Amino acid sequence: MRIARVIVDVPSRETDRPFDYLVPERLAEWVETGSRVAVPFGGRTLQGIVLGSAEEAEVDRSRLKPIADVLDAVPPLSEELVEIGRWMSRRWLCPLTVSLQAMLPAALKGKTEKYISPAPDAAWTVLERSVYADFLHALESGGPLKLSQLLQQHPERADAVKQWLKQGKLEERQKVEDRLSVKTVLTVFAPPEAALRDALAAIPARAAKQRELLAYLLEHPEPIAQAALAEAAGTTTAAIRALADKGILEVKAVTAERDPYADRHFAPSAPLPLTPAQREAFAPIAEAVERRAHETFLLHGVTGSGKTEIYLQAIDRALSQGREAIVLVPEIALTPQMVERFKSRFGARVAVLHSRLSNGERYDEWRKIREGRAQVAVGARSAVFAPFARLGLLIIDEEHETTYKQEESPKYHARDVAVMRGRLNGAAVVLGSATPSLETYGAAIGASPGFGDRDEAVRPVYIPLPERVADRPLPRVSIIDMREELRLGNRAMFSRALADALRTRLERGEQTVLLLNRRGYATFVMCRSCGFTATCPHCDIALTYHRGSQNLRCHYCGYAEREPDKCPSCESPHIRFFGTGTQKVEEALAETFPGIRVIRMDVDTTTEKGSHERWLTEFRERRADVLLGTQMVAKGLDFPYVTLVGVLAADAALRLPDFRAAERTFQLLTQVAGRAGRHELPGEVIVQTYEPEHESIAAVEHHDYRGFTGRELGHRQALGYPPYGRLLTLTLSHEQVPLLLSMGQTFATRMRERAAAAGVRGDDSSSDRAAEVLGPVPSPIPRLKDRYRFQCMVKYRGDVDARAWAAETLKELAETAKRHGVQMSVDVDPQMML
Ligand code: ADP
Ligand code: ZN
Ligand code: ZN
Repeated sequence: MRIARVIVDVPSRETDRPFDYLVPERLAEWVETGSRVAVPFGGRTLQGIVLGSAEEAEVDRSRLKPIADVLDAVPPLSEELVEIGRWMSRRWLCPLTVSLQAMLPAALKGKTEKYISPAPDAAWTVLERSVYADFLHALESGGPLKLSQLLQQHPERADAVKQWLKQGKLEERQKVEDRLSVKTVLTVFAPPEAALRDALAAIPARAAKQRELLAYLLEHPEPIAQAALAEAAGTTTAAIRALADKGILEVKAVTAERDPYADRHFAPSAPLPLTPAQREAFAPIAEAVERRAHETFLLHGVTGSGKTEIYLQAIDRALSQGREAIVLVPEIALTPQMVERFKSRFGARVAVLHSRLSNGERYDEWRKIREGRAQVAVGARSAVFAPFARLGLLIIDEEHETTYKQEESPKYHARDVAVMRGRLNGAAVVLGSATPSLETYGAAIGASPGFGDRDEAVRPVYIPLPERVADRPLPRVSIIDMREELRLGNRAMFSRALADALRTRLERGEQTVLLLNRRGYATFVMCRSCGFTATCPHCDIALTYHRGSQNLRCHYCGYAEREPDKCPSCESPHIRFFGTGTQKVEEALAETFPGIRVIRMDVDTTTEKGSHERWLTEFRERRADVLLGTQMVAKGLDFPYVTLVGVLAADAALRLPDFRAAERTFQLLTQVAGRAGRHELPGEVIVQTYEPEHESIAAVEHHDYRGFTGRELGHRQALGYPPYGRLLTLTLSHEQVPLLLSMGQTFATRMRERAAAAGVRGDDSSSDRAAEVLGPVPSPIPRLKDRYRFQCMVKYRGDVDARAWAAETLKELAETAKRHGVQMSVDVDPQMML
């Protein structure tokens, strides 16, 4: 490569294009597509990614600058991933560097470091020589010093350094460095036994420590970490160094892997003989894997129908062909049982990627994949970018989960990325769920357009798995009308039915999962005299009450204030917190059932690393009667003694201003119901609600996915919502409202003009093409961190390229936005309307 096309890491729309650089001779061997490089850019040295080579430079060759450095021996991105990155930035309208960076582990997000060294011809004054003697000596003898480190250790030297740089006595050089490096451990290598004996004989008796050390190594000749050896042999590192200096021992820095599962044992598990229903579902998937053909499947199996066992065996197929597999799970920290099942089946061939790992741990897991030492990646959303070279299978479990859509830029959906990688690799894609999203299900049964990109719409092959394994029945579901309870004088949190059922479980020593549906139902503070509610002064959203610290906190910006003892507005003392938090449920449980053992899992009890796993282990070992929690108890858990699932406030999220509210409620209730009776003991589910008639709740009673979905698809079609139409939102934020309004209006007007030019109308229900531009209106969160937010929404359907219009319009607005500091953020196919 003579000239490389590089995308420089400046995430702005103006610089969102590749720049050409010369490849110097010394780096020619190393620069490839996907290489991470350091390049000079606007007076700085920045990180960039090589997109490919250029035959002819776009500008005069003599004006090109050379690449300063290559940052990795093996390019972190393959050609395939670079292509995925390009596609992502078109698909979700984000700068290319943003989509490329999203595929790299955080440890590889290079930062620019400045180094200083004395200029060769620097003429130091006598005064400088005497005042800064030590410093100058260090500079001259120790080579370039890292500026940030120097200023941290000696802030008093900042002025002198600045002046010397100006005078040209010091030179500055910039380097791009990794935030984190490979971890190394000093390791001691002993010589062969005979040499060791000779050495031992030659050491004088007074060097007792050294003798002990060699004696220990005779017994334990394998390489050992220096620190561990010193401890095991009861000596010091000084003794080890002494022997190393004599050339008897060798001490080398060895890369050490930070293995987050190092101290865990996974009992091996063999494949289970598939049931006839599983075999039927498995056959087309296995066939696609064997043909090495890209195909997308929707595996629609009720909870406990044996989907995971099918995933495991499909992976086995891919591995036996020398190919690799990715498994995505919604939030891996919440589903330790999934990790366990994959580790048990495939052992060390599994790399685990999730957000609870430290950057270093994640980097090491990532390297196992890149270097071909792992063949299966299990992880949350971003594991879809696992850098495999021979991908044969991609699985997305619980494909309907919202966590697969990233809410910050790049606002990609892992499902679409998986399908694209499947295409590029000739790999099979399996989307599994008990409650598939309407987009996937509608496309699979042919009731709605395909999902994904307009010109690449995906229609998965539909594979139903309607029965649980081993004829286990689905649990019986009862819907309890809480209004009726109130009429009969029960003001408690638990209906009589739920209280009775709980008591029975306690008597029988069985377990209960209690879900408190709390989305949109935070514990907020309200004055009962005047209606005042405490809101964040920066974000315009209700503050949440935290009992532990007795303060009110903003979940968006972290603002906190003390719990008020009287109303700040009317001074009434009748101010209290409303809404049912998990803590209140815990208290009510303790009151109603003295001695009950409850594990509470919510954001407050699970911030600590590994805490989920600890709680879940405790529950599995039956050291608690009830597992109480928010959404996080609904997913993936499989405990044999859970025979009761209770849902409090099932309808809490139904009134949220989101057209998917009903779908989400149905999915959540079905998922949590699926936690009951998964093994020999039959299960029961009790759902408490104030809206038993609502179809998303009523349908849960009969596990009626098809009925619910049929009706819901009808509503969506009538209103032009996904999966029948598409959405695109633009959010603008700034400190001043008038500016936002005028920019929002410009966006809306230009979009309408583009629609008109394309002959598309917004209100035309008779046409199969339409595009409607709504707004600008205040966003559902109207202010965040002191910035006001307005949004425009484009609702379109049919053969309409509203995304291209938006891309052009954003380009036109970019300059104005930059000048005024207005942030523009576009969301293509948004998942969260809040
Ligand atoms: P899902 O992923 O659909 O919820 P799982 O794969 O977790 O279902 O299966 C549910 C339960 O049935 C698990 O305990 C699993 O070990 C068991 N199981 C799955 N397949 C079989 C099989 N073919 N034979 C016996 N038990 C099975
Ligand atoms: Zn008041
Ligand atoms: Zn706030």
